[in-house]
Amino acid sequence: MSPDGIKLLKTPVLDKSKWMQLPRDVIIGHDVLAQLPKVCEDLQVSGSALVFSGKGTMDVAGSQVLSLVREVMDAELFIVDTITPEIISEAEEAGSGVDVFIGVGGGKVIDTAKIVSYNCCRPFISIPTAASHDGIASSRASVPVKGGSVSLEANPPIALIADTGIIAAAPHRLLAAGCADVISNYTAILDWELSHRLRGEPVSEYAIALARMTAEIISKNADLIKPHSEESAWTVVKALLSSGVAMSIAGSSRPASGGEHKFSHALDQIAPGKGLHGEQCGIGSIITMYLHGGDWRGIRTSLKKIGAPTTPKEMGIDDYSAAQALVLAHTIRPERFTILDMGVTEEVARELIAMLYEE
Ligand SMILES: [Zn+2]
Repeated sequence: MSPDGIKLLKTPVLDKSKWMQLPRDVIIGHDVLAQLPKVCEDLQVSGSALVFSGKGTMDVAGSQVLSLVREVMDAELFIVDTITPEIISEAEEAGSGVDVFIGVGGGKVIDTAKIVSYNCCRPFISIPTAASHDGIASSRASVPVKGGSVSLEANPPIALIADTGIIAAAPHRLLAAGCADVISNYTAILDWELSHRLRGEPVSEYAIALARMTAEIISKNADLIKPHSEESAWTVVKALLSSGVAMSIAGSSRPASGGEHKFSHALDQIAPGKGLHGEQCGIGSIITMYLHGGDWRGIRTSLKKIGAPTTPKEMGIDDYSAAQALVLAHTIRPERFTILDMGVTEEVARELIAMLYEE
């Protein structure tokens, strides 16, 4: 018998494995904050909690959440104004021994809760007060480091409670940024596929399909994303959740983070505090879609309809800095190969930024 024939007699063994972590309870809708005690009961979370909130978000939802949690367990409050390594260790100390962490607020609050929860090996519940980025339900956390920020892997929340009334009342700029973060999935996927073809990086077709569909839903409904509409908040929260699930399926942020995210992180270093994460990614996505030879005008039109910026100027960033960020993008997470890692010269970067202003 030939060696091939002998091989056929062997039972093939599947030698791969994967551990996907997803949120277990997801509650989205009007006045759903009140469901928090029931969620804790459902998840069999009891004992003590540390509630994270921000100064601004205390009035919006933090105080209400604190009193709701205190109906079912002991709870202390930790106010987060900014994320620094010191604040994280302070929070870890305050939370040592607690059974659950609850983050009520914007990106900084949710990210702090996520990091502390990961470091303390205790679950966390995500209660976003705005839908400004896909971190509300994902396993990723953005941590500031000297001169910018980096994205770290953490655990996704065990529950997401998104009150559309609260989210719709937040400034529209935040919701528009959340949409832009989702739309940037289009190019994140193209970068992932490029890396697959050029570098042999494994891809997940399920994660790609889900991330692309999510971007499509937001793009197709761009006309319907209106300021302070609960219906819009509903659509965007579901899209952000769906992006988070795509990342959980992939086991990495690949389906939602490509070159446009590297550009955004580079901008955080060069022009910190100007644009929101999603806004910067949206603009990065117009550029990388152009480089991929895709419908970059389509992305720009969707962003405009939603009310997200499409030029650095609209974010208060000068074109020179934006071009520098494009050149620098390849230095951010160099192991993540994207189209911006193929060599962007200063001259090309200037032209790409100028293109954003074309009619
Ligand atoms: Zn993002």
